[in-house]
Amino acid sequence: MESRYDDRRGKITIRNDLVELNIKNDFPIFSNNKDLIYLDNASTTQKPQVVINKLIEFYTKYNSNIHRAEYKLANIATKEYEESRQIVADFINANKLEIIFTRGTTESINLIAYSWGNNLYEDDEILISEMEHHSNIIPWQMLAKQKNIKIKYIPILENGELDIKSIKDLINDKTKLVSLTHMSNTLGTINPVNKIIKKIKQYNSDIKILIDGAQSISHIDIDVKKINCDFFVFSGHKIMGPTGVGALYIKKKLMNEMVPFLMGGQMIKEVNKFDSTWNDSPWKFEAGTSNIAQVIGFGEAINYFNKLDIKNINTYENMLLNILIERLKEIKPVKIYGHIKNQGPVISFNIKNCHPYDVSKLLDTYNIAIRSGHHCTQTLMKSLGTDYTNRVSLYAYNSLNDINYFVDRLIDVIKILN
Ligand code: PMP
Repeated sequence: MESRYDDRRGKITIRNDLVELNIKNDFPIFSNNKDLIYLDNASTTQKPQVVINKLIEFYTKYNSNIHRAEYKLANIATKEYEESRQIVADFINANKLEIIFTRGTTESINLIAYSWGNNLYEDDEILISEMEHHSNIIPWQMLAKQKNIKIKYIPILENGELDIKSIKDLINDKTKLVSLTHMSNTLGTINPVNKIIKKIKQYNSDIKILIDGAQSISHIDIDVKKINCDFFVFSGHKIMGPTGVGALYIKKKLMNEMVPFLMGGQMIKEVNKFDSTWNDSPWKFEAGTSNIAQVIGFGEAINYFNKLDIKNINTYENMLLNILIERLKEIKPVKIYGHIKNQGPVISFNIKNCHPYDVSKLLDTYNIAIRSGHHCTQTLMKSLGTDYTNRVSLYAYNSLNDINYFVDRLIDVIKILN
């Protein structure tokens, strides 16, 4: 790395190690919106043409319902759907029969709260953290109210890390579940889940662990066996797949202890007038007609992701993140929240005297899409002592130019607002 002086920005660093992944052309949204600088990837990611093609292929070539009919079209649809299950399973090193397709992370957590939560009793305890997304808080709150269960929170430290030392005082013989995000959607913090789970399982191997992988799925190589979690949940739309589809990994032996979540067609073995028996897992948890096209598109998105290779994606995104942080730190009124070394490409910040809403609205006039708000993490906001932040979240198709253009326009916006 070398440094030089720039008239406008002062001393800046020139990097010789910049290698762009250069995949923007695979995403038609960018050719249809020539100036778009899309920096809201933690919310949802853009879709490559291959995923869009797969959806078109399903609807134009073999649209039919799955698992029901014997004709050729239906067999192709069923085969493609079940192949996606294998692709998803391989991606996180699970067994195909341990993968349930849901509408996304939110539905997956709700399914666990209902189906596995059915086994909990009064005074049982669930441990979550202050940095959880609302979808990993509210289902537990509902369950707690219904069953008189206690929810406890792992606090966060000022640097945005979980206070891991506090866990030993928070778990006890009543603890039945620990449910944690792998990567914060607001701060980017990556939680050392392997280490945390090891400690908890050493204390009591019966405590079940749920990992919310909504953010980590795109940025961390996931191996559910190595992590040793009991549940792992994620959404297709955060990894370049369609909306309305997600995956829920459940350790095989736990599936038998869980009641079905939705009742209806396909989740049954035999229906009598007054009672019924259930299909085998995972189909026991997939009642009704599934999001067939989306599931098939989800598999295609993972194939595309695998071709890029997570190592290349990580190296590239980390480089962009470091440049973004370097440049944001040059701007005096910017306060960055909870930036740590082990962090995904997400950064939250506020600017003195500038409301995050105004900042994002003004940036939009330059076709720059960033988020402002509480990012569905109000308990985290309360711990950080703020109501809202601006959030920039990067993805493999962002370029160095995106980062520089964003920071340059941010400087303009600050001038306008002051
Ligand atoms: N958990 C985390 C950490 C998230 O970032 C999100 C999405 N922002 C969710 C859960 C919910 O995901 P979905 O809206 O796809 O169900």
